[in-house]
Amino acid sequence: MTQAFHDRIRAELAEIDSQGLTKPERVIASRQGPEIEVAGKRVLNFCANNYLGLAGDDRVVQAGLAAQERWGAGTASVRFICGTLEIHKELEAATAQYLGFEDCILFAAAFDANGGLFEPLLGAEDAIVSDSLNHASIIDGVRLCKAKRYRFANSDMDELESQLKAARADGARTIVIATDGVFSMDGYIAKLKDIRALADTYDALIMVDDCHATGFLGPQGRGSYAHHGVEIDFLTGTYGKALGGAMGGFICATEEVVALLKQRARPYLFSNALAPAVCGSSMEAIRIAGGGEGDALRKQLFANAGRYRAAMTQAGFELLPGEHPIIPVMLHDAKLAQDFAARALELGVYVIGFSFPVVPRGQARIRTQMSAAHTFDQIDRVVDAFTTAGKELGVIR
Ligand SMILES: *Cc1c(COP(=O)(O)O)cnc(C)c1O
Repeated sequence: MTQAFHDRIRAELAEIDSQGLTKPERVIASRQGPEIEVAGKRVLNFCANNYLGLAGDDRVVQAGLAAQERWGAGTASVRFICGTLEIHKELEAATAQYLGFEDCILFAAAFDANGGLFEPLLGAEDAIVSDSLNHASIIDGVRLCKAKRYRFANSDMDELESQLKAARADGARTIVIATDGVFSMDGYIAKLKDIRALADTYDALIMVDDCHATGFLGPQGRGSYAHHGVEIDFLTGTYGKALGGAMGGFICATEEVVALLKQRARPYLFSNALAPAVCGSSMEAIRIAGGGEGDALRKQLFANAGRYRAAMTQAGFELLPGEHPIIPVMLHDAKLAQDFAARALELGVYVIGFSFPVVPRGQARIRTQMSAAHTFDQIDRVVDAFTTAGKELGVIR
């Protein structure tokens, strides 16, 4: 019996490998930044979610160290027993204030925030209308909840409307539209203006997961809803990307919603409080992102994205259209994506091939991501390396 189990696991691994879908873990031997050390070599890094370049920023690192010094390694407790420190309250207040919400609740990860949001707020009488490209953690969170599920094709507003109609016809008590603010594999920004209008028409609430937007999209980097100038009801986000890159997630909402989540959200009730070092680093990142320096970093980030897009298009690569610093280079074939990434690394550029199941079959790609910490010179060197690799592998002429 147990032998059969282990045989099955081995066969599954072999199957994944034979399709060129194995995702190896590359070991990084330096601090996160625009240049990192990989396999004994300094290389350019173009695949981090380090949009503002704050993950390796000394002030962010030092703020984490200071918080750890002051508050210790951690609470050895969940929040409601003896795990709520002053710094947790400060981070919740700073996050809510920065993002323009009444209140905020912290989680160990945005994955947990999405896992904890729906189940306490919605029951079998309710409906969740979800974008088909939503992050895995939203899908899991929706699964954990008894609400009826409706799905619409990515950013297809006609389909969203027909699903809203269906939910109303089915007698839903409360309807929540759930969407990523930015779809992480494509860099597409959700059509929140249209979603807002449909939500108003069909009396629905809006939930946005802004992990790939908080800190750098919209005025003050407040995210996709600020970019579109609309209000939303529930915001989930992470400190693990632009806001310092450590880890930790949050939900912003009204005071009452947060109060109920603090009573009922299972990943909050049954998991350790955020480590003080994470809180300290995240607070410093919010301070930087929310201020004048944040504006300068965002300007650099989008200038980098524009320069890279233009040069890569000129070189003949197929990019997905858009304005976001996630810029996918489409290769379509999983093996080719792996080979391209391997050759790029030899040429001094660290990027990763994305293939099924992370993206649909036939849509394998190199997902490149810009950072405010990149210089124009580094952008140009990446384009040169990709052009060389692209010619060798027959991607471009
Ligand atoms: C990265 C990401 C998450 C997970 O964030 P963590 O804080 O690392 O758990 C959730 N949703 C989206 C859209 C993401 O891109």
